[in-house]
Amino acid sequence: MELIFLLLIFIIGTLFGSFATLAVYRLPLKKDIIKERSFCPNCGHKLGFFDLIPILSYVFLGGKCRYCKEKIRPRYFIIEVLSGFIAVLLYLKLQIPVMEVTIDVLFNFLYLIIYATTIMIIAGIDKEKKIVFRPVILFGTLLCLGYMLYLCIVGQLEFANMYRYIIYIASILILYFINNIKCDNYIIDLVMIIEYMQLFITTNEVFMTVLIMILITVMKIVSIKLKPIDKSNILSEEENEKGEIPIAFYLAISNLIVVCIQVFKILVL
Ligand SMILES: [Zn+2]
Repeated sequence: MELIFLLLIFIIGTLFGSFATLAVYRLPLKKDIIKERSFCPNCGHKLGFFDLIPILSYVFLGGKCRYCKEKIRPRYFIIEVLSGFIAVLLYLKLQIPVMEVTIDVLFNFLYLIIYATTIMIIAGIDKEKKIVFRPVILFGTLLCLGYMLYLCIVGQLEFANMYRYIIYIASILILYFINNIKCDNYIIDLVMIIEYMQLFITTNEVFMTVLIMILITVMKIVSIKLKPIDKSNILSEEENEKGEIPIAFYLAISNLIVVCIQVFKILVL
């Protein structure tokens, strides 16, 4: 029972992951992410139902487009598998046995998984374009506001917590408008993401996440400095278009590491 439930959670995670890869591709191009059917970026053929099944369609089609046989980048497959695992981790982190799962627990889980998806989209776009795509943060913040209202109505939100959320939501909205109207500053974007994380994970977790992010960024800078200058390196797969360090992407990786450590503690210690 437990295993079947975890498998179901894994599948739900892959669906969200599949959506995230689509959003990372389409949002910077200002394309619709809800209504328009997925298509092969090479031949433009609209994908059928079986082509859209995460992981399995990639495996059965041998990593190629069914119509033009062009190779599909393995990153789609990797992100789908990873999101499945992230969903399982998030469920395990809640520490609620399958038999005790209620509607409220499912809502809480869904809330976390949508958070993970928004962070993945932000990270993916940052890695490719070195842009923090702010409307995703705005969407998540409004979702949080809705969830808080729901918790207030069902009487599950303590006053102290409510206070905390209101402060974070207000500061995110202020930074959002400052950055959108006035400065368009990457550092302000990063601060906004860190505040955004506060809406979904604890302050301790955010603190750990930022520490690990600083560590990864420093390591990356050192490795770039140590590497001999080689023009072919600049356009390697790893770098984004501008060849700059995608810090929002590292924030997402760090957040994932923090969640992994916590679940490891829960399961092993
Ligand atoms: Zn194709």
